[in-house]
Amino acid sequence: MARLMLLSMSMPRSKRPIFTVQKHQASHLHYDFRLEIGGVLKSWAIPKGPSMDPSVKRLAVEVEDHNLEYANFEGLIQEGHYGAGPVLVWDTGWFEPLDWHRGPASPATMLDAGKLEVHLHGQRLQGGFTLVRMKDQPRHWLLIKQSDKDARPGHEVVEEYDTSILSRRTIEDLEAAVAAGTSDTYCCG
Ligand code: MN
Repeated sequence: MARLMLLSMSMPRSKRPIFTVQKHQASHLHYDFRLEIGGVLKSWAIPKGPSMDPSVKRLAVEVEDHNLEYANFEGLIQEGHYGAGPVLVWDTGWFEPLDWHRGPASPATMLDAGKLEVHLHGQRLQGGFTLVRMKDQPRHWLLIKQSDKDARPGHEVVEEYDTSILSRRTIEDLEAAVAAGTSDTYCCG
């Protein structure tokens, strides 16, 4: 029995890399889009948030990698620390890298090539998405919904949902809880 447990603990984690989108009310509201690639959360800050409308291109600014443990973080980043302000988990799930015209490729390879296609399995975001790096500004990418059965033309999913997918709290709920001293806070120091 003990041996079986050890074996299962040493097995690679399921082949379902995680993605998460955190709504973050820092000095400017944005949505942090994170994909598990190479053992870390590759991260982009999307000022307007993701869209399910394939005609919409959303600026996604590449930011620093985060640890996998951060994926489900929700709370307040304290004043004086980078990104001070409340954070909630807006969506989470797993993703599959999609092969593109050159054939099968790993997410890390696609990232290096500046075009990453993934199929998201979230609760609010589903289906194919493309992240494409802009030519002149290497940290600037565009996130675009692919035209598939999950696409919702003319629809803004970030307007439809403003709550945490985990706790159903809004940014305002988090702020109120912090003000009342009833919410855990997080300090990134
Ligand atoms: Mn952020």
